[in-house]
Amino acid sequence: MANPALTVLDIEKFADAAHRHGVPLIVDNTFPTPIHCRPFEWGADIVTHSTTKYMDGHGAAVGGAIVDSGKFDWTAHAEKYPGLTTPDESYHGITYTERFGLEGAYITKATAQLMRDFGAIQSPQHAFYLNLGLESLHLRMKQHAINGQAVAEFLEKHPAVKSVEYAGLPSSKYHALAQKYLPEGGCGVVSFRLKGGREAAQKFMENLKIAAIETHVADARSCVLHPASTTHRQLTDAELEAAGVYSDLIRFSCGIEDTQDLLDDIAQALEATEA
Ligand SMILES: *Cc1c(COP(=O)(O)O)cnc(C)c1O
Repeated sequence: MANPALTVLDIEKFADAAHRHGVPLIVDNTFPTPIHCRPFEWGADIVTHSTTKYMDGHGAAVGGAIVDSGKFDWTAHAEKYPGLTTPDESYHGITYTERFGLEGAYITKATAQLMRDFGAIQSPQHAFYLNLGLESLHLRMKQHAINGQAVAEFLEKHPAVKSVEYAGLPSSKYHALAQKYLPEGGCGVVSFRLKGGREAAQKFMENLKIAAIETHVADARSCVLHPASTTHRQLTDAELEAAGVYSDLIRFSCGIEDTQDLLDDIAQALEATEA
């Protein structure tokens, strides 16, 4: 699932296409997490996560993870992957595929060479925070999906709302893909547009009492962002339009709060935009 567009990737289709061209499919599974989506079962070769988001869950530690299925055959397309299939001068002249096999070649190069050279190592304290988060991930993801679905349904019916993007809504063009790849729900992030434009979007956010205005997303606490005035503020209105990041677009990341509390907060903030 893409952030912030919430596009649902047709993993099987893209895995087939990638494999026909001798390249691995790498899926960023940050938003659904392994609780709600298992890309390897649909043919993906490598999965990445920003653990800073749902996995940590509390915005306590920045981190990332690469998970290698160990199934992609680098040697069948050796000319494409010299870094894995020819001797590495910086690492005792070993050839990763020969020394570690298909299961170990990619991830050993990633950890033994790249992680070492770039220093992208998680501190022990941050690993500890992440581990605490992982212990409750399965419970939190359930509530994120329940809240995301309820908020999306509520917004879709609200007169101040122009449109809503959430794959759990039958009106979403990604609904069929979501039913296939995310049968137990996706995540808590909902994107929507307000009829009142940029000004209403700003007013809506300022009036929220539970959700905090933050660039961060996918957290136990609800947070909200107006990309046009923050992450994408360098773009003109025409450029925003072209990127699908409309000036009236809001990204609402539902936390694990009580569902009715969230709906009440959104309702009163929407009312304030009409005042
Ligand atoms: C935030 C995010 C990232 C980047 O992660 P950081 O931990 O902020 O570096 C990558 N992919 C997705 C889908 C994200 O939401």
